[in-house]
Amino acid sequence: MEKFDVLVRGSGCVGRSLALALGARGFRVALLGKTAAPAAATEPGLASGPAAAATAGRPVQPGSDVRAYALNAQSVRLLNRLRVWDTLPEDARTAVHDMRVMGDRAGASLHFSAWDQGVGELAHIVDAAALEDQLDAALRFAPHVQRVSAPVPATLEALCEGRESVTAQTRHGVHFERHDYGHLGIAARVVASQPHHGVALQWFRSPDILGLLPFDRPEAGRSYGFVWSVPRERAQTLLAAGPSEFEAALMEATGGQVGALTLASERQAWPLQLARADRLCGPGWVLLGDAAHLVHPLAGQGLNLGLADVEALVEVIVAREAWRTLDDEKLLRRYARARLAPTWAMGELTDSLLRGFASQAPVIARLRNEGLRLVDRAGPIKKWLTARALGH
Ligand SMILES: Cc1cc2nc3c(=O)[nH]c(=O)nc-3n(C[C@H](O)[C@H](O)[C@H](O)COP(=O)(O)OP(=O)(O)OC[C@H]3O[C@@H](n4cnc5c(N)ncnc54)[C@H](O)[C@@H]3O)c2cc1C
Repeated sequence: MEKFDVLVRGSGCVGRSLALALGARGFRVALLGKTAAPAAATEPGLASGPAAAATAGRPVQPGSDVRAYALNAQSVRLLNRLRVWDTLPEDARTAVHDMRVMGDRAGASLHFSAWDQGVGELAHIVDAAALEDQLDAALRFAPHVQRVSAPVPATLEALCEGRESVTAQTRHGVHFERHDYGHLGIAARVVASQPHHGVALQWFRSPDILGLLPFDRPEAGRSYGFVWSVPRERAQTLLAAGPSEFEAALMEATGGQVGALTLASERQAWPLQLARADRLCGPGWVLLGDAAHLVHPLAGQGLNLGLADVEALVEVIVAREAWRTLDDEKLLRRYARARLAPTWAMGELTDSLLRGFASQAPVIARLRNEGLRLVDRAGPIKKWLTARALGH
């Protein structure tokens, strides 16, 4: 049987991007995916609510991933190099120019703008299903990548199996430090009665957090993708609620700031966790993406971290000494060292924000709202925070 250079296990966005990036460098890659896995990784036994009737424009296909990903400049550069960025339909990627973060008291807010940061945009919001389609299309023309339906011999195994990854634990004895937030992240598309003007909004409402990401699907200029992190029990109630009851809950959460919101897709939900593998590599194997680290989606950074893993691994492999083979653990440890600090820092940042905003104690509430005001006034801190999120 042919021996490949790399077997990529898992064909989510991270696995597909890695296969493309390695194939483009001339490595022979086998890409092993689960056949026709549903895009929405809903928790077993967790039923999303009744599909809402699309009310405007083109409805989102039932069953396809309803998430809209916020991607930073570094991820966009990688997707550009992989030739999947320009091929995304216009309405599947929307630039964010401003972002407003609201505390749980009137007046406490943070405002980030692309203008202040001296950049063209703060992020791009990308349709998850469209991104997967374009990665697939690019893979069809990738000369060195072969899709396989069972494991094949390869010098290196790259495990990109996502949050449900079992190979790392069963075959390589990797342990995961996990913290369950007790929240579900509900995602769907909505159409607003007011235009979004490229502004993303986030409400830290204690205990729930709601993020609205400006988008152009199903209706240009007035759609949002949202992620609502809600304690599990309340989330189950919201998922079971009818569309108008759910829309009323959204209206209450947003305080009507973007006008009336109408559901334009079904609702899907994911259990939210912080998780880290105790090792990122061993002889002949490496972990990437959600298989290596899970962060709360409040900062929209999970896929950005996974794509940064892809870049780091490819860089290390390409720059290796001529005599080193791809399974050399010393080589793979260079990748692990490069990724340790950024993934740890992002996990800590999202976790501290979440814990800080989850507390109902009045003194903590006062402190966090003061904190928001302070950061908003402190230009350098804001610039630093934004640069981290932008991937500069
Ligand atoms: C509600 C929500 C909103 C989010 N928003 C953002 C955002 O705005 N920005 C951002 O950057 N990130 C965001 N994320 C995070 C992002 O979705 C993930 O980080 C990203 O999808 C991880 O990609 P992946 O390829 O590592 O894993 P996955 O997408 O989970 O892909 C793994 C693949 O491997 C397959 N697989 C599993 N086991 C095996 C096996 N044994 N053999 C073969 N295949 C296997 C699975 O079926 C799957 O197809 C969000 C997450 C959630 C839950």
